[in-house]
Amino acid sequence: MATKAVMTLPRDDPWQVALTQFQVAADLLSLKRGVREFLAYPRRELTVNFPVKLEDGSVRVFTGYRIHHSDVLGPTKGGIRYNPAVTLNEIRALAMLMTWKCAVVGLPFGGAKGGVVCNPKELSPEVLEHLTRRYATEITIMLGPESDIPAPDMGTTPQVMAWIMDTYSMHRGYSVPAVVTGKPISIGGSAGRIEATGRGVMIVAREAARHLGMSLQGARVAIQGFGNVGSIAAVALHSQGCRIIAITDSRGGVHNDKGIDPQDLLRHKEQTGRVAGYRGSEAISNEEILELPCEILVPSALEGQITKDNAARIKARMIVEGANGPTTPEADEIFRDRKIFVVPDILANAGGVTVSYFEWVQDLQSFFWTEEEINERLERIMTRSFRDVLAVSQEKKVDMRTGALVRGVGRVADALLTRGIYP
Ligand code: NAD
Repeated sequence: MATKAVMTLPRDDPWQVALTQFQVAADLLSLKRGVREFLAYPRRELTVNFPVKLEDGSVRVFTGYRIHHSDVLGPTKGGIRYNPAVTLNEIRALAMLMTWKCAVVGLPFGGAKGGVVCNPKELSPEVLEHLTRRYATEITIMLGPESDIPAPDMGTTPQVMAWIMDTYSMHRGYSVPAVVTGKPISIGGSAGRIEATGRGVMIVAREAARHLGMSLQGARVAIQGFGNVGSIAAVALHSQGCRIIAITDSRGGVHNDKGIDPQDLLRHKEQTGRVAGYRGSEAISNEEILELPCEILVPSALEGQITKDNAARIKARMIVEGANGPTTPEADEIFRDRKIFVVPDILANAGGVTVSYFEWVQDLQSFFWTEEEINERLERIMTRSFRDVLAVSQEKKVDMRTGALVRGVGRVADALLTRGIYP
């Protein structure tokens, strides 16, 4: 059984964390052994090792992955990550999280994830394009608008999605915009997609604040990670009256209790390539930011940031997980005892895949919606999903993560039982 196979993994291994979380939901749902096993194993895993010619003419071999965790609810959906720390177990965990995430917000998608072990910041645009096109070709048997639709994740951009869309289309002989989401608008991308994950983070933070009887006016916010998710979440929360007191990226961070204007910080980052050194602020590390006194903590970078080692020192009233998998199960236990309200990744950052779903629908119909329509539909889905998960967590007397997992795993298990086992 899959769970036995990973018994030897360290407890903080992302795949072990994902399986531990899944088992809790499976127990609460009293899933039978066969259903559990089916849902614990990824359906398909592909590892590719492929050569790329570098600028100086030398050749380097890169390793990439694409994993379909489950397609029970529909074509698989999930981002592609370019990062030096990418591992097979990380991609497995993220693919499984995508399955539950799509189910939590009620999208007709299964879960997938992909990644390439590389540092995109060290590659020239030409090499990045070659790497992307070759990786897309290597995993092409996994992709398709009816089978598997990638999107951006850490280290990948709308431009990277454009290259994947173009490469796939060249192999087919005609344009297939619906094969990826998060594309530039000029080639079939959706209005509001870039902002979607960060906007979704703001919407669930607002709902959580309402539930806790807490005002967002002047609420202190600390954000780890200032990429797509972190920067848009900062702007969106700032627009709701929150005070953004600290922000970090991979090169360190800045802290100012009086508040930081995220738009101005974005300009600073554009000019200098980092948030560090922003005027009027003190330096803060990626570890220190997590322990700052604040009302809302938004991890928006890597997984495994909040563990049993620092959870007891976290002072936030709520944690809204922009990142995937930032909190380990042991840290969750500490938060349950300390009554820190956690809006889990599979709910908090589901705004991205929700607008990706809108983008896919628009591409299939070749009929595009306005940004107002997108944002209105996003607002409806995120608000409804938050209330839905809150209701499950109250009914089962469990935390929000377990409530979300029960909702997500439960929907996939129901669909599986209804479809039956082939042959
Ligand atoms: P991104 O590449 O745009 O930004 C990542 C940010 O994290 C950057 O600011 C980077 O400097 C910072 N970072 C990298 N390593 C770090 C480290 N060791 N410590 C602190 N900061 C570090 O990526 P993104 O798309 O914003 O994704 C961030 C997280 O959100 C990931 O966990 C991703 O899976 C998740 N997520 C993204 C989306 C999306 O639509 N982009 C959707 C759902 C979830």
